[in-house]
Formats: sequence, C-alpha cells, structure tokens
Amino acid sequence: MTQLLRSAVPIMILLALATFVAMTNGPALALVLVVLIGLGSVPFRLRRNFRDAAETETPVELTSAGVSRRRAMKQLGLGGAGLAVPAAIGVPTIIDSWKAEASASPATGPGGRIRQWGMIIDLRRCDGCQSQGTPPQCTLACIEGHFAPEPMEWIEIYEAELAGGGTQFIPAPCMQCQDPPCVNVCPVAATFSTPEGPVLIDQDRCIGCRLCMAACPYDRRFFNWGDPPIPPEALLADYSPEHQAPAKKGTVMKCDFCPEMARAGTLPFCIQACPNDAIYYGDLEEDIATNGREVVSFSDYLAENNSYRLKEELGTQPRVHYIPGHGELVGRDRETEGRMDTRWPWIERVKGAVTWQR
Ligand code: SF4
Ligand code: SF4
Ligand code: SF4
Repeated sequence: MTQLLRSAVPIMILLALATFVAMTNGPALALVLVVLIGLGSVPFRLRRNFRDAAETETPVELTSAGVSRRRAMKQLGLGGAGLAVPAAIGVPTIIDSWKAEASASPATGPGGRIRQWGMIIDLRRCDGCQSQGTPPQCTLACIEGHFAPEPMEWIEIYEAELAGGGTQFIPAPCMQCQDPPCVNVCPVAATFSTPEGPVLIDQDRCIGCRLCMAACPYDRRFFNWGDPPIPPEALLADYSPEHQAPAKKGTVMKCDFCPEMARAGTLPFCIQACPNDAIYYGDLEEDIATNGREVVSFSDYLAENNSYRLKEELGTQPRVHYIPGHGELVGRDRETEGRMDTRWPWIERVKGAVTWQR
C-alpha cells in the first residue's frame, strides 16, 4: 500500500499541473512540461529502485571461507523459498537435511548420492579449553555421550611444541582413514568401512586380538582390559557399532564419528560441546560443513586455509583435516602451556566402578 501511494502521488500532482497549464497556456506547452518532468524523474526512480532492492534482499552471511549461506543452501537444493528464512535457521536446516529415512540406512543427499562424512579441526580456534578453565569439553562430551570407559579418550587433546616457540593443542579423534590399516589386518572382519565413510567396530564380532591397535598409526584404538563400568542408561541402549554402548570386556573401541547422529539431524557430541566452534562436520559429496554456528564450503575452507592431514605420507587418506594454528583466533597466547586433565564424570555415578591402565 505504501509503495502504491508513493507511486500515485507524483502522478496525480503532475496531472493536476498539466491540466492547469493546458487551460491557461494551451495543450502544446502542457505536453512539453509533462515530457520534461518525466525525463527528469528517471534518475530518482532508478535510485529508489536500487535502494528498495537492497532493503528487501535477504542478508547474506559471509563465512571465513568466503562462502555465503545462500550458496551453501543452494548446494543443498534448498535455494529459492529457502533464502527467505532468517539467517539463524540456516545451520539447523542444513543439519536437518542430513536426516535419513531410517537410522540404519546410509544418508543420501540431492541426486541420491550417499553422503561422505568428514571433519575439519581449526586449530586457530582450539585453546585446549584454557579460556574456559575446564578440561577439554570435546573429550568430555564424547565420553559422556558414549559412556566411554576410563582411560579412553576417543578424541584426545595433544599438546605439541611449535617450531617458533610455544605450543599448540591438537584434538585427535579417529581419522576415519579411507585406506585404513586397522581394517586390513582384522582377521575376523570385526572392523570395517561403511558406505558413508566412518570406520566402525562390531564388538559382537571382535575377538580382542588387538592387531588393529598395533596397525593404527594414530594410536586411536582402545582396549577394554576388564569389565567396563556400565551405567543403567547404557544397558537400555540398543547395541550398535555406531554408538558402541554398552561397552564389552575384551573388545576394542574408538571414535565412531557419530554417523547415527548426523543421520538424525544432530552434530556429534564433541562439536556441540566445543565452546570455540573449532570443529566442523560435513559431507564431502555435498561439499558442505558446519560447526553449528556457520556453514562453509568443505573444499574452499581447506584450500583457503592451508589445510593438512596427520601423517599424510602414509597414504591412509584421513577424513579428518586440520587448519594450522595455536588458538590465536580465540586469543590464546602460545606461551601459555598446559590443559586440565580429562575426567570421566559418569563413572563416578556407577557403584564399584574400576578403571585400568592402557
Ligand atoms: S576443540 Fe574445542 S572443546 Fe576441544 S579442546 Fe579445543 S577448544 Fe576445547
Ligand atoms: S585412525 Fe587408526 S583406527 Fe581410525 S581408521 Fe585410521 S587406522 Fe583405523
Ligand atoms: S565424532 Fe563422535 S565418537 Fe568421534 S570424537 Fe566426536 S563425539 Fe566422539
């Protein structure tokens, strides 16, 4: 209505003026006046059109990888009407689009292609949770979410010395290798690669020979030496290699990459818990990843930030990528060493729980 009034008022004024001139000075002069005023108003109308277009355009959030939410949603086939949604809905929408029909079937993206889960850990944002004054929250959340027995740290925070002095923190989950040495040595096929990428362990098949532990070049597998403490809620879980609860004595466990959660439209525990948004999870096929706060193009983020993978020279082709750094984006001083020790709070709730050394 406002738009209509804004257009109609000048026309009505012009018509009244033209009528007055025609009555007093003749129709020819009135026509010349109308043409001149019409031409003179073109620049003003153009400027207003640009301004209106700018005001109605959905704000587009540029990520650090220079990828807009608009592009990300378009890649997921959520363009068009989806662009009109408030910016804050973008990340949940994207994670929601990962949902699979059934939790056991592989998640598929547009075009029916099976999703390929991958992870980016941005070390520029990881300060080992020093700023929080807590043990690493990613490790803690993974332990709580999976009832991982002590001393297992499926995502472990190493502190490494930097060449120029000071240290950096390196969160290390299972690398989900595309050519996994652990799988190649298992004599009973208890550990295997899945169509979506994660390498899993079926504890019902595992015979505890620990050959996979010896074969893993990243030291990312753990053994249940004794009867693991088990809380009642873990006993209620329907066992699956995708969440490995309840734990079993004499079997190997490790980070499972939480594909079950992605398929249910939720980010892995470790990512949800990181206070610095340092970990991204996404689909290599769709070329999209999110840390729960922003959406980036998987490949652009890697290419534009000097990404690398651990022990690349071994040819294991990890699905976990790193961006070099030492927490500088969250204000960490590289000379401030140390992080708080990991805890297994849920074990404190289990009567008579015992732990063992690796
Ligand atoms: S990744 Fe996040 S939660 Fe984990 S140690 Fe680093 S800052 Fe803390
Ligand atoms: S990091 Fe180790 S356990 Fe994980 S897939 Fe690679 S070789 Fe296997
Ligand atoms: S991806 Fe899942 S299993 Fe792996 S470290 Fe994160 S929370 Fe733990």
